[in-house]
Amino acid sequence: DNSLIVSFIFQSQSELKIQFADQKQEFNKRPSKIGRRSLSRSISQSSTDSYSSAASYTDSSDDETSPRDKQQKNSKGNGDFCIKNIKQADFGRREIEIAEQEMPALMALRKRAQGEKPLAGAKIVGCTHITAQTAVLMETLSALGAQCRWAACNIYSTQNERSRVGESEDDFWWCIDRCVNVEGWQPNMILDDGGDLTHWIYKKYPSMFKKIKGIVEESVTGVHRLYQLSKAGKLCVPAMNVNDSVTKQKFDNLYCCRESILDGLKRTTDVMFGGKQVVVCGYGEVGKGCCAALKAMGSIVYVTEIDPICALQACMDGFRLVKLTEVIRQVDIVITCTGNKNVVVRENLDRMKNGCIVCNMGHSNTEIDVSSLRTPELTWERVRSQVDHVIWPDGKRIVLLAEGRLLNLSCSTVPTFVLSITATTQALALIELYNAPEGRYKQDVYLLPKKMDEYVASLHLPTFDAHLTELSDEQAKYLGLNKNGPFKPNYYR
Ligand code: NAD
Repeated sequence: DNSLIVSFIFQSQSELKIQFADQKQEFNKRPSKIGRRSLSRSISQSSTDSYSSAASYTDSSDDETSPRDKQQKNSKGNGDFCIKNIKQADFGRREIEIAEQEMPALMALRKRAQGEKPLAGAKIVGCTHITAQTAVLMETLSALGAQCRWAACNIYSTQNERSRVGESEDDFWWCIDRCVNVEGWQPNMILDDGGDLTHWIYKKYPSMFKKIKGIVEESVTGVHRLYQLSKAGKLCVPAMNVNDSVTKQKFDNLYCCRESILDGLKRTTDVMFGGKQVVVCGYGEVGKGCCAALKAMGSIVYVTEIDPICALQACMDGFRLVKLTEVIRQVDIVITCTGNKNVVVRENLDRMKNGCIVCNMGHSNTEIDVSSLRTPELTWERVRSQVDHVIWPDGKRIVLLAEGRLLNLSCSTVPTFVLSITATTQALALIELYNAPEGRYKQDVYLLPKKMDEYVASLHLPTFDAHLTELSDEQAKYLGLNKNGPFKPNYYR
């Protein structure tokens, strides 16, 4: 009987009970009509869909009307949601069921919550990427006793079968507002990715914080904004930084990229990896994942680094550590993953060989100086969705992917199992903040307790039929540990 209310998202509404309040709108600007979208898998997606999944199938039959102008109802007759097309509910449900198979920890939490409901009474407002995996998280929170309202945290990252691609900036804020500005419903927990929802509540409805027990934040950017609030003495509730929990960082950054780098390159270029010379800039978690995948495919991998420790790790892992300028003329693929800016500049791009593929796996599109390629003597040719040939006057072409934005998020999908780890971390952080006794958390930013981080990992072990060794009493005493964990200090990475 929990309300699960979503904004511009699910196609699968069968279990949602909806409350709709006729609110006064402050938004005068209506979103423009949305153009018809393609039915094909990836090659005909428009360039503005840069963050949408290449695997989106889109029904373009009634795309012309803005979802905000459509009256839609789910199978229970509820209409308090704003999504692209409720007719795709069955398709969405199948996608959610597929995702459930790879999200064992959330399913385990649901099972455990059959008796006790750790989130009973929680009213969670969420703003995250909207995918089938998010649906599994929302339905889990609901099974744990919470009511939820949700909006997308990024206008590009949604997928049509579950939600809607092509949301305008105005739609984005409208959806967030619809989630919090409701008669008879007020959130007491926030789950945010990027900090926009938190920021909106601070700006528009600061009194809501009287009832809010805590904020769970997922992204680097959102966490950064929370620390700024905390520093300025303006954070008025406890916040949990899940971005820096070990299970998020070690798995999302490393394993997710290890799997998706090949997928992103393959879908866009059909390149063969065996024997190709690749340079990976940055040997942090993301770089390690990329290098491992490419090495396994038979590529010859070079690494660039600024940090001697990561550089030494690269050497010990069997990669040649070079300066970019040493190999730039000979490599077939250049991948940046430093989190830095101007790692590949025009001078490097000028020296690349014909056909060199250039892409970025870091968070922002500043790693490759793409703007330096927008000069009159160079011609740009869009050859596929997310694939540009930049052509020099002598005929040399380089292949630029996703205009220097995150390759995997722009051009491939992300493994559900990794998202399962992240989603479980979010669910546990919500449970912890919601149930924490008065005084355990102050108005500050906290990391997920180590023990919970370990618990997230342990919930995923049965998938591999993995058998964990238990400490004997004698060993526990020797190491000074509790037999049930935590097994490592907080600083351990
Ligand atoms: P990290 O800090 O572990 O690694 C970055 C490495 O780059 C560091 O070792 C640093 O020394 C090195 N570096 C910095 N400037 C450099 C330069 N000019 N030349 C060569 N090396 C340089 O960070 P990470 O976890 O590997 O993340 C890297 C980036 O990827 C971040 O922007 C992060 O937000 C992003 N990220 C992407 C994904 C994805 O799915 N694509 C997932 C997680 C994180």
